[in-house]
Amino acid sequence: MRILIAGGTVLTATDVIEADVLVDGEQIVAVGRNLALRDGDLDRIIDASERYVIPGGVDVHTHMELDASGAVASDDFVTGTRAAAWGGTTTIVDYAGHDRGEAPLAGLARWHEKAKGRACIDYGFHLMISEVNDRVLAELGELADTGVTSFKVFMAYPDRYMINDEEMLLVMQRSAALGTLVAVHAENGGAIELLRRELVADGHLAPEYHAASRPPDVEGEATARAIMLAGLAGTAVYIAHLSARPALDAVHDARDKGQAVFAETCPQYLYLSEEDLHRPGIEGARFVCSPPLRPAETRALLWQGLRRGDLDVVATDHCPFTSEQKAVGVADFTRIPNGLHGVEDRMALLYEGVHRGELSLNRWIEVAATAPAKLVGLYPRKGTLAPGADADVVIWDPSVERTMSAASHHMNVDYSCYEGLTVHGRADVVLQRGEVLVEAGQFVGRPGAGRYLPRGKMWGKGVTVRRP
Ligand SMILES: [Zn+2]
Repeated sequence: MRILIAGGTVLTATDVIEADVLVDGEQIVAVGRNLALRDGDLDRIIDASERYVIPGGVDVHTHMELDASGAVASDDFVTGTRAAAWGGTTTIVDYAGHDRGEAPLAGLARWHEKAKGRACIDYGFHLMISEVNDRVLAELGELADTGVTSFKVFMAYPDRYMINDEEMLLVMQRSAALGTLVAVHAENGGAIELLRRELVADGHLAPEYHAASRPPDVEGEATARAIMLAGLAGTAVYIAHLSARPALDAVHDARDKGQAVFAETCPQYLYLSEEDLHRPGIEGARFVCSPPLRPAETRALLWQGLRRGDLDVVATDHCPFTSEQKAVGVADFTRIPNGLHGVEDRMALLYEGVHRGELSLNRWIEVAATAPAKLVGLYPRKGTLAPGADADVVIWDPSVERTMSAASHHMNVDYSCYEGLTVHGRADVVLQRGEVLVEAGQFVGRPGAGRYLPRGKMWGKGVTVRRP
């Protein structure tokens, strides 16, 4: 199939140009003006006039059907990747995990089983490390060889994931040797455990106390410690879901010194706040995630961090739970499954940032597609529009004004954290590797069409940072 996407405005992380995009089979073969005149041998012309032509979104932080201590995230690899496509995202990197006592490769195999033949869009895996021993450290090399080139370590969740500083440093040293990337869940788990117990003992059980149990300094301290350890190991470090001012300050300072520190925030921290946790009963429980939602004034700082380049990526931490699942902890915040939806909403919530003047068009594409693809070793196959890239193309209509709602989203969750929010823009046509996934208000992709993406090693020892 040769498809010409004609007459649109092509956006990349660096360009805003009037151009056509020529797709041959699974790849883009040309970006330029009047390509139809030069090459008449076309199977199809898709009109993109009055709209933006952008690379498919790359969401590098999802948890499809994650079993989170008793509750399983309500989107699986079919429903979650279908919803992603609806929103203009064509690549996810999901967090595979292993249980304590289980080999990482065995855990990864379980994730391959969940996704194989079911994902509607292309996918890769990171690995969440839940314990450190000789076998785990040895297997990191084998994981990298199979395209799992990033590992997440946890400074919180002692029951399941948390490792100590010595173990973290061992993982970072190993990663430095392999040229892979270490992602960090940066919250001080010891402090959180004690604060939680104290709050519970005092009878503070409502959802809002979830935030009180994990205050901003707990994130700031852990972020600074992770950066220090990465500096000792001489490895690049990626701070996942950064939400709080002290954590942003720690990243800013490290980047000023030229350390290879990268950071991600999420749409929920840009739009929601801890006030949402004060909603009554189940309403408040629906907004529980970790790190927790922060004071409203933090949002402006995070947008600023995206503009300044201290934050590189916006990913979702997509891990939805239904109201029924959240209800388990209405009377005890420690029992509420942690996680929010977002995989379908992310591109629109970031474009709304463009509409409101928070981000430029180029920076939108950079934080939503290009930078994440680069950081996880998928660029330039994913994350841009250029000859040789996969033909993952979205035609984005900026003129649409719509209201976000659970009634119209496609994620498998019965509520929307953004219910009633007016946003601008919508993915009109979505292609992956030259195949149409969404068009004319219909999903025409299929489960199993998504492919596993073995990833390369993009960032290793000695990488320095550059601000946009
Ligand atoms: Zn996560």
